[in-house]
Amino acid sequence: MPARSLLRRTFGQFLAKSALPPPEALVIAHAGALLPVTFVRSARARRVSLRVDPAQRRIVLTAPLRMSRATAISFAEAQAGWIAARLKRLPAQQPFIDGAELLLLGVPHRIRHRPDARGTVWLEGAEVHVAGKPEHLPRRLRDWLAAEARRRITPLALAKAGKVGRTVKRVGLRDSRSRWGSCGPDGGLSFSWRLILAPPDVLDYLVAHEVAHLVHMNHGPRFWALARDLCDGPMEAPQAWLKANGERLLQYGA
Ligand SMILES: [Zn+2]
Repeated sequence: MPARSLLRRTFGQFLAKSALPPPEALVIAHAGALLPVTFVRSARARRVSLRVDPAQRRIVLTAPLRMSRATAISFAEAQAGWIAARLKRLPAQQPFIDGAELLLLGVPHRIRHRPDARGTVWLEGAEVHVAGKPEHLPRRLRDWLAAEARRRITPLALAKAGKVGRTVKRVGLRDSRSRWGSCGPDGGLSFSWRLILAPPDVLDYLVAHEVAHLVHMNHGPRFWALARDLCDGPMEAPQAWLKANGERLLQYGA
């Protein structure tokens, strides 16, 4: 696409985006149940669509700006069976509370609140102990998990980047709910802290994936060949694990 038309299109999208109406909470009746659907407008959407947002545990109905609200809603109503099935299939929420289960490197652990103990967060066998007031437990645990994720991911990323002669400018830990990792144009890598919940080969694969992006900023055949090389083991098992368990990881600490 010529630069000028690209520029014009981008500016058009910017204008359209600034005029987008806020998301609207809808309820769709189906088989005696009321199904929550969030209705959003998109400047880029060419057609109406439905998708699952597992992190927010909701169904999102996206419509182009020009489509009438009624048309968009009747599309969702026609898909009510699918919406009901997808909402039902969402994995259970896994709050950070005393006695709840927590995955750590893919291994189930139990959360133990220790209000009277000193310290912050520590491991005792298959239990994660958290000191302090109950209202601080979720944040303390999340901070600890993010620190553990950083402790594991940083040396892995540096070692893998060294193999391909690149430097990692920085490793960031986020709670991005739409992607497990990303690679910035400046050589900074960022990862979801939730990867510390996943088995070590999943973590290894995600780091290999983002480091391979330091060389190839695409998902072409050369990118995949390099990612495969940078993995400790085969890529297929961790990819399959993420596909099967990704939605579940997003339910922790909710
Ligand atoms: Zn990628």
